[in-house]
Amino acid sequence: MMIRFAIIPLLLAMNFSMCKRHESAANGSQPATSSPAAAAVSPAASPPKITKAVVDQTAQTIIFCYHRLVDKIRYPGTEITPADFEAQMKQLKDAGITVISMQDLLAWRRGEKNIPPRCAVVSFDDGWKSQYEVAWPIMKKFGYPFTMFIYTEGVRGGSLGGGEAITWEQLADMRDNGVDIEAHTATHQDLREGHNIMLAAPGGKRTRTKLTGPEYEQWVRNEVVGSKELLEQRLGIKVNCFAVPFGNYNEHVKELARNAGYEAMFTVYGQPITFTSPLDSLGRYAIEANKPKVFVDAVKMIGTSTGGAAAVAEVGAADLSTQPADGSTVRTALPLIKANLGRVGGIEPGSVQMRVSGLGVVPVSYDPKSGMVSYQVTQKLRGNSCTVIVSAKAEGKKVEAHWTFGIDATAAAAPVSAAAKSTPTPKK
Ligand SMILES: [Zn+2]
Repeated sequence: MMIRFAIIPLLLAMNFSMCKRHESAANGSQPATSSPAAAAVSPAASPPKITKAVVDQTAQTIIFCYHRLVDKIRYPGTEITPADFEAQMKQLKDAGITVISMQDLLAWRRGEKNIPPRCAVVSFDDGWKSQYEVAWPIMKKFGYPFTMFIYTEGVRGGSLGGGEAITWEQLADMRDNGVDIEAHTATHQDLREGHNIMLAAPGGKRTRTKLTGPEYEQWVRNEVVGSKELLEQRLGIKVNCFAVPFGNYNEHVKELARNAGYEAMFTVYGQPITFTSPLDSLGRYAIEANKPKVFVDAVKMIGTSTGGAAAVAEVGAADLSTQPADGSTVRTALPLIKANLGRVGGIEPGSVQMRVSGLGVVPVSYDPKSGMVSYQVTQKLRGNSCTVIVSAKAEGKKVEAHWTFGIDATAAAAPVSAAAKSTPTPKK
């Protein structure tokens, strides 16, 4: 028996190393077709009319990770009462935080879809039946989307799927109702080479061991890639997210995951997700019954850290072909101020507003067809610079552009130099 067990991994390992080469060659073409960045920078291939959606790069998202929902807490590290959970979901709503789906978060990161300025993603780990029976109805009540991170051996019927585990049928029901189902390995263990793991021998006996070399490679591949393939095949879905058990991984695991087609990887080191957060280590806030402060702090992180400035999407003035241009100097105190909002999709015509430093809100004319917003200054601008703020609502959210141009006082008709010194230009 011992000999047989020793040989099988070796054979599999050899097989694996061949597979790997083959696969990496096959994968060679994948990034080019699936990577949005690559798609975005190949102008020759794309039709000329399509312009990239302006996404709010200042938006922030917090991602929550929940485990079991139980009335009586026995393991506070992974449990929460349904009442506390529901209260937290309500708090998100009350705090003006929009719960979005993981796929929307990723679409935003690809520059394909806008998200509200302050968002949360809710995820549930490990596949407990209370997530189906208790959490799901609460999420439905709020109309919140969410993600399930499943380790495949933990599903009912798997080697680790006990009585409290979710079933494949329940997962299929969730899938049919739009719940996002993603990967969380096969057996939920430390994925780093040489670390303690439990291996289930045929017959169910579990032994503690450490794997290295080809044996480890074979094992970790099944954890990272095999679990993804199983979910995809069993549920007929596309899996592009990978939650790392305990957050224990390294570059090798990341590479394996990337090559397997995962778009994003998640840890449990909570942090606000920004437009530039590395996609291979997105931190989630793990909510525990005995640490209510984690939730409170997470909400605070995106609620107040930016003093509300993040509630507005900044649009670069250059994108709006502003006139006078940002940083330019005009020779009149009565300039015509223009910006083209045509590139910002979905502008609500009544929402367009222009503020001019020293004048406040000015009555603009806006042409919805061309997207041109303009204002002819009728009172001489004072000072030697002028800041313009154009804002509008686009697809329900506020977008804003700021720019500043100079006024050459000597060329301007009125003697404004004295006033210029006493009138500070408002800072943005
Ligand atoms: Zn887990």
